Amino acid sequence: MPVRVAVNGYGTIGKRVADAVARQHDMVLVGVSKTRPSYEADRAMAKGYKLFIAGDGKKADFDAAGIATAGTVAEMVQQADVVVDAAPDKIGKENVQLYERANVRAIFQGGEKATVAEVSFNALANYAQAKGKRRVRVVSCNTTGLSRAAAVLTAKWGVESWEATIVRRAADPAESGKGPINGIMPTFTLPSHHGPDVQTIFPGLAIATTAVVVPTTLMHVHVNHVRLNSAPESQAAVVEAFRSTPRFHVFRSWEHVDGTPQVMEYARDRALAGADMMEGVLWENGVRLDGRELYFFQAIHQESIVVPENVDAIRAMFDLAPDGRTSIAITDRALGIGR
Ligand code: NAD
Repeated sequence: MPVRVAVNGYGTIGKRVADAVARQHDMVLVGVSKTRPSYEADRAMAKGYKLFIAGDGKKADFDAAGIATAGTVAEMVQQADVVVDAAPDKIGKENVQLYERANVRAIFQGGEKATVAEVSFNALANYAQAKGKRRVRVVSCNTTGLSRAAAVLTAKWGVESWEATIVRRAADPAESGKGPINGIMPTFTLPSHHGPDVQTIFPGLAIATTAVVVPTTLMHVHVNHVRLNSAPESQAAVVEAFRSTPRFHVFRSWEHVDGTPQVMEYARDRALAGADMMEGVLWENGVRLDGRELYFFQAIHQESIVVPENVDAIRAMFDLAPDGRTSIAITDRALGIGR
């Protein structure tokens, strides 16, 4: 029997998770939720997804827009084995009671505190820890990127210390009301919260992060400096370690991918999984090794990098695959990642 999945919150992350779940052979999408009619609600209907009314949404508003609804979120969760909560930051915590009352498992996103769940999750790093769990948190986009990289580096060479500066996109493309549209805004929490968040996946990892927000909507970029425990045999070996790991895409220097605009243009040309870039993105010429000192850039498509992680989290919770690498392979094949 496929696992029945509901998606509560059909925004940037939720709509992508719904599409990804609908493509898996061992899962079935029972429905998605919206608080009010919108172009996204219309698209959900066009895709044949059952639409349930979330939050303080009103059936009359959907009826007036000609958008069919199938009930309330409370009714949706009754039909599910697991709910992927993709509501805005901090709303997930408020939904916990709803899920507990319905005796349904739940996955939360990185906008919630780690305490909302039994385990914080990244498929490459700690898949096994989510096996059989009732509440799992898929970490944020930045923490996902850092954790994937940490999974590679800790396994191969060990990490003595890691400093990362996160150059953050100001808003997602559709968030026209957010800024800044000019200026570079330092995050005055020093170090930033991202390091401790990575430690929810890698306890004890000596990582410190800082962040600035810049006027772009395409991607985040991480500037990493890692002191490894042992020196890799070569810079090429580091590049190869990332390239041969699922969920990384390493551009070659001759591809002339000068920055995030070309990365996202590549994603649109490739046009898989909705023209998203679910891999962590490195540049061959953006990796530099000096003994044990490793410098590398990584770009993160904030709208989509966590999407396959949600799918793997479901597979882990319901023990649908023997290990993380198997689940990743199933998910990535269904989504076209790595092609
Ligand atoms: P979003 O605002 O794009 O979407 C949230 C959706 O939830 C909206 O459609 C909204 O109408 C709906 N909603 C509002 N109240 C609700 C309620 N009470 N119940 C159910 N749905 C409700 O937000 P998002 O960017 O998709 O973020 C969702 C979560 O994913 C957050 O925890 C966020 O931190 C995390 N996340 C976001 C990004 C990103 O870059 N956008 C990346 C990784 C993780």
